[in-house]
Amino acid sequence: MKVTIFGTGYVGLVTGACLAEMGNHVVCVDIDDNKVGRLSRGEIPIFEPGLEPIVRRNHANGQLEFTTDAAQSIAHAQIIFIAVGTPPDEDGSADLQYVLSVARSIGQHLDRYAVIVNKSTVPVGTADRVREAVAAELSARGVEIDFDVASNPEFLKEGDAVEDCLRPDRIVMGSSSARAIALLRKLYAPFNRNHDRTVVMDVRSAELTKYAANAMLATKISFMNEIANIAERVGADVELVRQGIGSDPRIGYHFIYPGAGYGGSCFPKDVQALERTARTVGYDARLLGAVEAVNHDQKIKLFDFIQRYFNGDVRGRTIALWGLAFKPNTDDMREASSRRLIEALWEAGAKVRAFDPEAREETRRLYGERSDLVLCDSAYQTLDGADVLAIVTEWKAFRSPDFARIRAMLREPAIFDGRNLYEPSVVEEAGLAYYGIGRGRSV
Ligand code: NAD
Repeated sequence: MKVTIFGTGYVGLVTGACLAEMGNHVVCVDIDDNKVGRLSRGEIPIFEPGLEPIVRRNHANGQLEFTTDAAQSIAHAQIIFIAVGTPPDEDGSADLQYVLSVARSIGQHLDRYAVIVNKSTVPVGTADRVREAVAAELSARGVEIDFDVASNPEFLKEGDAVEDCLRPDRIVMGSSSARAIALLRKLYAPFNRNHDRTVVMDVRSAELTKYAANAMLATKISFMNEIANIAERVGADVELVRQGIGSDPRIGYHFIYPGAGYGGSCFPKDVQALERTARTVGYDARLLGAVEAVNHDQKIKLFDFIQRYFNGDVRGRTIALWGLAFKPNTDDMREASSRRLIEALWEAGAKVRAFDPEAREETRRLYGERSDLVLCDSAYQTLDGADVLAIVTEWKAFRSPDFARIRAMLREPAIFDGRNLYEPSVVEEAGLAYYGIGRGRSV
């Protein structure tokens, strides 16, 4: 099938590559000509496991094209995906300027029936706004062309995006048009061979489904962080509590890890946007507000620990930091907990020596060259001249370090484990003080 995708970010590029892999002819269009230029030369602008070979292979055989030409891209396809960013507006609601700009552009160039599919995470009612924007442009051109707008929210996880896209848990399709659903079913048929993963619904329910999924996941994290904060104060170990509750199949072990807060481009903005949507329809979503507030405080926890460890004064101290990306297997730093920690440390007069397997380039892009930030080439290099060590991202490479070596290199023997990677007794046996999240002790 002929498919066009607006936006070549994490979602658009991965979706485009996976659809091309299934034999479709996909055109990916972006307004960022630097990104399009790099992709056309076979350079992948983001780190995502397994993505590079699929993009290269399908680009080389002509199944996957990259362009900035919206008009040609629109003429190409029966199915046009919108996968552009929906960042938070000043008031927390989703900023739809990019989505609506694509909609207008589609209206300006559409010359025959197509189904326009919203893959971006957008508030309930956005499909109607897209339809209106397309219709307004068609009417300004004085043409009548039939089209449908559908919602097909994306559930891929950064770090596992290719795998999630090739083997989705579910494929949500929201539309009242049988023609649109039939086209989407045909497109997704290769992803449904094992069993039908399609869930068809009205467009508003599909739009809300995405927010509900992310809000639920964020709630699980903030809930566990709340339990961790109680555990810390009552002398219990949240890691034992986690295993104790996870064994109940109604709760389960997934996604109940306490830590230094969630980040990324989705949970923070989507929880906020849903709360905002609720407010606009006269409902005060108290639970969502609390999820956000707990997360906000959680992100500053490691800093509070470190500052208390140094009796309230970290001036002149050097903190080694393992992990910068908001989670492992990505280079994405959007809303990363590391950023809150680093910025708080700088403000308090400390220096940072940091290592991340993938996010160093992105960190350099965000903060530039500064004397209070050294980006190291290895985890152990960060310890050179550092006072203490903080772990912010749970990369596999950090899971089983040489504690004796850490002990020998640090000026002060202490580890602040923002992801509860280590067993406190093992760390302590190596002569290091251990501070985790909710582990029955605090600084
Ligand atoms: P991103 O910021 O990585 O990429 C967005 C891309 O859209 C950018 O390359 C930008 O240049 C491009 N763009 C903006 N305006 C455009 C236009 N008019 N025409 C063509 N391209 C344009 O964003 P992302 O992380 O891929 O997220 C996209 C959407 O998918 C968001 O709504 C997000 O909430 C949602 N989503 C993201 C994830 C994720 O893990 N990143 C998962 C599920 C859903």
